[in-house]
Amino acid sequence: MRKYFKKLPRKLREVISQASGVSQETRLPAYLVGGCLRDLILGVKNLDLDIAIEGNGIIFAQHLAQKLKSSLRIYERFGTATLILSDGLKVDIATTRQEKYPYFAALPEVSPGSLKEDLKRRDFTINAMAVSIAVDKEQKIIDPFGGQDDLASGRIRVLHNLSFKDDPTRIFRAIRFSRRFDFKIERKTLALLKQAISEGWLAKVNPHRIRVELIAILKEQNPFKPIKELGDLGALSFISTKLKIDKSTRALFKSISKQIAWFIKNFPARRQPDSWLVYFTALLAPLTLARMNLLISRLGLRKGEAKRVISYYRELDKLISSLSKKHLLPKEIFSLLEPLSYETIILVSATTPNKNFKKYLTDFLKVYNGMRLCVCGSDLGGLGVLPGPEYQKIFAKVLTAKLNGQVRNRQTEMALIRKLVRDK
Ligand code: ATP
Repeated sequence: MRKYFKKLPRKLREVISQASGVSQETRLPAYLVGGCLRDLILGVKNLDLDIAIEGNGIIFAQHLAQKLKSSLRIYERFGTATLILSDGLKVDIATTRQEKYPYFAALPEVSPGSLKEDLKRRDFTINAMAVSIAVDKEQKIIDPFGGQDDLASGRIRVLHNLSFKDDPTRIFRAIRFSRRFDFKIERKTLALLKQAISEGWLAKVNPHRIRVELIAILKEQNPFKPIKELGDLGALSFISTKLKIDKSTRALFKSISKQIAWFIKNFPARRQPDSWLVYFTALLAPLTLARMNLLISRLGLRKGEAKRVISYYRELDKLISSLSKKHLLPKEIFSLLEPLSYETIILVSATTPNKNFKKYLTDFLKVYNGMRLCVCGSDLGGLGVLPGPEYQKIFAKVLTAKLNGQVRNRQTEMALIRKLVRDK
């Protein structure tokens, strides 16, 4: 295993070495588990570490956080903790546990368990491996279900026949991993997956859990393929029967992906758009606004997310017709685009090939976006203007001048204000 550890970035090797020390001091056996071990074997970059502790994971996390001088979030109820390192790296620490499903598709009943039991509760063989991080131990991969073989042959395989019924969200996970790594879903696993869909098990899951997996898919590098596959399998009808995934969806997803890449390349210092939200909004196109609102609340999207989705459909027609016009003034571009989120702007841009629109959008993002005045109410008060509608009129004129490039800083804004007050 040493050869794999060597491939890790220096910072992660340091974390593992410190964790190994903590494991010795506290006598708590610690293992690297799950997706991070899978990616380590595959040679895929993964900056999150997942550590499982046989014993008290929270005590382990407290010791490690002290050593690494990192911040620590503890989830006492679940026996888990997350360390956030200064450079944004994340280390998840969990007490090994066993899970029992009181009935299919329910949340499992969780209790402490051995490492073997912890691996047994996992979704697929490739995610059900562990390796000790103790330096003095022979670092052999613990692989009770043949995960290494499946990784080598490119296979997604469940650990037992009831896996998709226990937790139908694994249907989404199987498709996600198979598309991401270009792996095949093993024959029997695929039969079980199809059976779980046709028996309607996805309808029994709390929709909030489906949201988590849907978002994970929409965050993938190329979300179209897994979405299409889920659609073909009939799994998306449990989200909405109205969703349609066809050639035009493929083209739209491609165009969105280009727009996002363009945005990130050209505006690296801005808030980075939530790419999943752009794809999600695009998927809802066949739904009426009423159905969209229902779906959004069933999936439990946050308020800000819901607002961005709905505002796109509310504003779309107006935006496309206004922004397709020639010769829009900067203040018109500003007032149309400034209230919108980046996600909405990206999606509108991805749906319209209009050249005028693209130019306005670039001007807006490069020059006008976030433009604010340096002057404020007290400046006007100082010139004897009483608070009231006059304030707004003057500020609107100064902002227009600023958007047109006629004033640039506080000094020139003040000069303009004085003139406007004088000429009143
Ligand atoms: P990613 O690279 O997308 O983060 P991951 O494998 O790390 O993939 P997570 O969702 O972070 O995925 O989960 C971490 C680990 O927890 C998985 O590798 C898997 O072992 C286990 N796991 C997560 N979700 C489930 C589930 N629904 N059923 C069983 N095991 C799960």
